[in-house]
Amino acid sequence: MPELPEVHTVLNTLIDSHLVGRWILESRILWERSVSGSDPDFETALTGLQITSLFRRGKLLVLVLEQGWHMIVHLRMAGMVYVAGTPEDPYIRVACRLEDGRFLCFRDVRKFGRCLFTRDPSPILNRVGPDPLAETFDYQTLQGLLASRRRVKPLLLDQTVIGGLGNIYVDEALWYARVHPLRRATSLNSRETKRLAASIRYVLLQGIRNGGTRLGGGKGNFLPPGGAREPTNQHHLRVFQQAGRPCPRCGTPIVKSVVAQRGTHTCPRCQPAPVPVPGWSSTLILPE
Ligand SMILES: [Zn+2]
Repeated sequence: MPELPEVHTVLNTLIDSHLVGRWILESRILWERSVSGSDPDFETALTGLQITSLFRRGKLLVLVLEQGWHMIVHLRMAGMVYVAGTPEDPYIRVACRLEDGRFLCFRDVRKFGRCLFTRDPSPILNRVGPDPLAETFDYQTLQGLLASRRRVKPLLLDQTVIGGLGNIYVDEALWYARVHPLRRATSLNSRETKRLAASIRYVLLQGIRNGGTRLGGGKGNFLPPGGAREPTNQHHLRVFQQAGRPCPRCGTPIVKSVVAQRGTHTCPRCQPAPVPVPGWSSTLILPE
């Protein structure tokens, strides 16, 4: 699932394709469920509106239109948003014809993604926790978020606590910070919290610089085929999907376990596990 760097890469491709300033002439909804939850009159209301800006909130992509309209996109598993010459792809669920002849397309093979058109984006956007790349996000912000008895990995995966992190970048950040994912958030001392704040920002910025992480054999599942950007961050991962390989810091083999129902990658030496607590298990999985 795309995380903050992948969504940010999509945002960058939309900016590069000069989407801001374009007018929507017509919107075609090819799969109703993709737009479920939208304001009822959106299809007619969008006609003739200009796209005035774009931004990202956590893993959400937001297009701002005139008259207070917003298009909020959650890519989920395989959603894509891009500008194309024709909307002839069978997996396109929403296509907005622009005045310059191109189409703003929402493509979603697996239909888990959502494209919400609304005049009131605040109920959705306000549910997303602070953005780790916001200028105001620092060590003290993170310290406030960690004031919880929850385990640190599930806490960081919770989009209402902090916006944008998913399984890949949480594992990477925790390795850089030398914090075990099963530690209780409140158990981190100030040095560890400072390291974690810096690590989170580092892995996300590196992810953006590398055009996101592509997993599996095909092209990045968050970018349409044939685009100019090719994700390369998969070549820079230190622990994620590196089970059995030596830790880049100490040489100990990386192990894979399950934390919060998610495959979790750690260095057993750099990230010592907390004392086991009944009711929590970290199941060891053989190297990949
Ligand atoms: Zn290590």
